[in-house]
Amino acid sequence: MNGDEMRKRWSVMSEEVISGMAEWRQQHPKATFREIEEEVDKRLSVLRVRMISDAAISSAQAEWEQGSRDAVCPNCGAKLVKKGKKKRKLQTRGGQEVELEREYGVCPRCGQGIFPPR
Ligand SMILES: [Zn+2]
Repeated sequence: MNGDEMRKRWSVMSEEVISGMAEWRQQHPKATFREIEEEVDKRLSVLRVRMISDAAISSAQAEWEQGSRDAVCPNCGAKLVKKGKKKRKLQTRGGQEVELEREYGVCPRCGQGIFPPR
């Protein structure tokens, strides 16, 4: 995913957050401050997680592509063998789980599986 694709995707999503929230507000004219806050947080957190995972995936791809010749094992320095994509779960600071699909490599010398970069 390049910068333009990300920008498009995120602006579509933020547009959805904004219009969804405006709609919700109309449907909940008597919502309390707390309820409004929760609703905004809930909607923004979807966007937040998406932005984090898109951005993380794109840097993982960039690093692998750029360093495909020197994607090496941190233990022994052997060149990693690509093993396709694997899913990996990471936690955001907000405690949400983000699933990243990233290129996965295995070290032919020590057999360690690695997601470059971390
Ligand atoms: Zn190794």
